[in-house]
Amino acid sequence: MNDADSEYEVTIGLEVHAELKTATKMFCNSKNDPDEERPNVNVCPVCMAHPGSLPVINREAVRQVLRVGTALGSKLADYTEFDRKNYFYPDLPKGYQISQFEYPLVAGGMLNGVEITRIHLEEDTASSMHDDATGETSIDYNRGGVPLMELVTEPVMHSAQEAGDFGRELQLLLRYLGASEANMEKGQMRVEANVSVAKKGTRSVGYVEIKNLNSFRTMERAVEYEIKRQTELVKGGGIITKQTLGWDENKQATFVQRTKEGAADYRYFPDPDLPSLKLSEIPEFDHALLRESLPELPATRRMRYVALGIKPDDADAYVRDLVLGTFFENVIADKTPAFIQLASNYIANDLVKIMRDGALATVPVSVSSFRAIIELVESKKLSSRGAKDLLVLSATDDRDPETIAREKGLIQDISPEMLQSTIVDILEKNPTVVADYKSGKEVALQFLLGQGMKAFRGAIDPDTLKRIVLEQISLL
Ligand code: ADP
Ligand code: MG
Repeated sequence: MNDADSEYEVTIGLEVHAELKTATKMFCNSKNDPDEERPNVNVCPVCMAHPGSLPVINREAVRQVLRVGTALGSKLADYTEFDRKNYFYPDLPKGYQISQFEYPLVAGGMLNGVEITRIHLEEDTASSMHDDATGETSIDYNRGGVPLMELVTEPVMHSAQEAGDFGRELQLLLRYLGASEANMEKGQMRVEANVSVAKKGTRSVGYVEIKNLNSFRTMERAVEYEIKRQTELVKGGGIITKQTLGWDENKQATFVQRTKEGAADYRYFPDPDLPSLKLSEIPEFDHALLRESLPELPATRRMRYVALGIKPDDADAYVRDLVLGTFFENVIADKTPAFIQLASNYIANDLVKIMRDGALATVPVSVSSFRAIIELVESKKLSSRGAKDLLVLSATDDRDPETIAREKGLIQDISPEMLQSTIVDILEKNPTVVADYKSGKEVALQFLLGQGMKAFRGAIDPDTLKRIVLEQISLL
């Protein structure tokens, strides 16, 4: 928004669904397998709603949501129950979805400075496939009944970027926790963005909910679009009413899916087929146990790296990229901050470039070879230029890096005597150049340094070479 628009305030809240990575579905023993390609194989009487079948709560799904809540510093419920959310749709064979209404598993908490309202647990619907050619719809019930967590944020974000950053951080957290693969393209994580624009100091009458956002980039674009559209609307005296919008990828614009008729009447009521839970009485949901089960979280890891002197952007790259992050962790184990910072520079600049150029999905240099290369740099046996070359060589040659470096003349372990005698030799062979330099011709020095570099095949630190050459000239 431009300056003239700063009298308008943007409000954004997110609703995020994530499929949990459990072995079985939410209320039955059917397999929870997002990679199953054959339709309708992971089904049973319970998730197909056959009469007389009864649901059983998946403990692991409850535990995963409680772990997410623990990671977010939320309040975990003491008492919880499951409710029936009644509506009719073919992807919901029971005619209701088992969800949670009054008593969500998790309340409050914070991520990226954004307050969390609640997280509850429900079952996913089946997936529908529409065939535009025939106009027919087929349904695959493999997904029906898969554990789904829904996280709702407070309406406290104010830009598309802030919403995108929150979504990406939540995705990362779910992956660190092993709670969900959270792949947006596969629909394992689905984000709905609620957006409103109001004149500062006032509240908008309604807000829109944007659905069908299959990437964070798309979400950011859709939110930007809405901010512009709504700002114009409000400026012209219009009112933002409650609407559900979709995103048209071709037009890069939102469109109205439906105008909400108040709150739909889902006639929520506690599911009589399921027991309510007194969570504090279930040993495996003990708060201390849940806390102990958490891995190092992305935010903590980022801070640890930055405290070691790693540039924030590089630290973020290691936290986000599992391949690079694991490599970095192994490289830095038991090492000093100086070594770690040096290693990080070669990973973030050179190794990443080698991987990008070769379109490599894995790090082409072993941890031990990489560490050996950094140690050679640290002990000044290898120049920075030499290290870059050696990294490229080591990417396709897994022999000891020092052996490779010696073969290629990259090692700068020339003895002081050797160094001195070679330079004296060069000076004696080039008396006129030395005289030129002494009479004030700076370029003459460059020639002598060039001769030195050639004699040592580049395997010498340029500053050391220059120092010795000047020393020897002054003695002449
Ligand atoms: P509903 O039941 O219609 O989904 P909720 O009150 O549960 O409504 O809110 C859903 C989402 O809407 C939440 O993510 C919340 O942050 C967001 N939201 C609430 N008020 C606003 C607003 N004025 N502008 C933008 N988003 C909002
Ligand atoms: Mg909603």
